[in-house]
Amino acid sequence: MSAPLMNTYARLPVSFVKGESATLWDSEGKSYLDALAGIAVCGLGHAHPAVTETICTQAAKLTHTSNLFRIPAQEQLGALLIEQSGMDNVFFSNSGAEANEAAIKLARLHGHKQSIENPAIIVMENSFHGRTMATLTATGNRKVHAGFEPLVQGFVRVPYDDIESIKNLSKNSNIAAVLVEPVQGEGGVNVPDESYLKGIREICDDNNWLMMLDEIQTGIGRTGKMFAFQHTDIKPDVMTLAKGLGNGFPIGACLARGVAAELFQPGNHGTTYGGNPLGCSVGHTVLTTILENNLIQRTEELGLKMITEFELALGDQAFVKDIRGLGLMIGIEIDRPCGDLVKMALDAGLIINVTADSVIRLLPPLVISDAEAERIVQKVTQLVFDFIETSVSDGE
Ligand SMILES: *Cc1c(COP(=O)(O)O)cnc(C)c1O
Repeated sequence: MSAPLMNTYARLPVSFVKGESATLWDSEGKSYLDALAGIAVCGLGHAHPAVTETICTQAAKLTHTSNLFRIPAQEQLGALLIEQSGMDNVFFSNSGAEANEAAIKLARLHGHKQSIENPAIIVMENSFHGRTMATLTATGNRKVHAGFEPLVQGFVRVPYDDIESIKNLSKNSNIAAVLVEPVQGEGGVNVPDESYLKGIREICDDNNWLMMLDEIQTGIGRTGKMFAFQHTDIKPDVMTLAKGLGNGFPIGACLARGVAAELFQPGNHGTTYGGNPLGCSVGHTVLTTILENNLIQRTEELGLKMITEFELALGDQAFVKDIRGLGLMIGIEIDRPCGDLVKMALDAGLIINVTADSVIRLLPPLVISDAEAERIVQKVTQLVFDFIETSVSDGE
């Protein structure tokens, strides 16, 4: 293979050249309804005019200066994120994995501060936290680890949505923190029991552990709250963000509260690009646009409506194991691997994702219209029936 790119993705044979809201056009001029939003990134849809305007105006003024100086756009976005989340401060990165790296470093500082020599973080099976060495180690997926050993030390893994297994680690004096997704994204749109986060909060309080939420996929309105933890009445000590924050412009954030907010000192952590004026201006526009257009409440309502409609259309079928989700993070679990559905959908002008082998994952832009939501439900339903038919006849 003489392709110029490293072979990290089995790419589909389509390339998009233009987008508008929830519609994408490929190089042949064919249009697609986007029910993926670049994996929960483009919450405001493609080429949102407010985002485009900010990128152009800020780029014409100033894009980068370095964190050796004060950056007003960074302070503004930080203040807005803190106001929205109730956290105390923020570190800006360029990606989700980097935001989690900051969180992992906070956990280690927190542990050492209590004289724990080898601090460990509790992480979950089927979790996804990124592709850097520490975040791939935190990730609960063998395929992500394979070939990259030796992995990073200091992680203890337990099943997701199993509060007892976390409680049982209270005796382990090395634990300094718990890192968990409020809803697992890559792991299959797994929504834990309503009491799960609250239970983790209590155990963390009892043991002086940091409760660290990876909201990289669930944050910025995706689940029908600005942050998924706001479905509960607890707050984390650390929260990481990325995907939805820049609507496609690369930016991540690690927010901290209370003792966690006082751990980093100058020299402990840094980044050249992170928090640059361009990225932070875009993040600020994304947040204010979401807030001004009441997109969070809209997401909550639309998500409930789509899940109800999917239940009506598919809930009785024996091959459908589960229909679940929170806001516009929707999973339909089929009784067999269904990766082929992605290509079938593409042919039918719809962009979807399949994760954890057998879970159709829908992450449409938060700005989709009622009619577009309806079309997603109808098309996915039809595709699932078509897929089941072909997969049965294959076996005959
Ligand atoms: C996407 C994702 C990450 C990694 O983000 P990158 O920007 O790809 O590094 C981490 N955690 C969760 C929950 C994610 O969905």
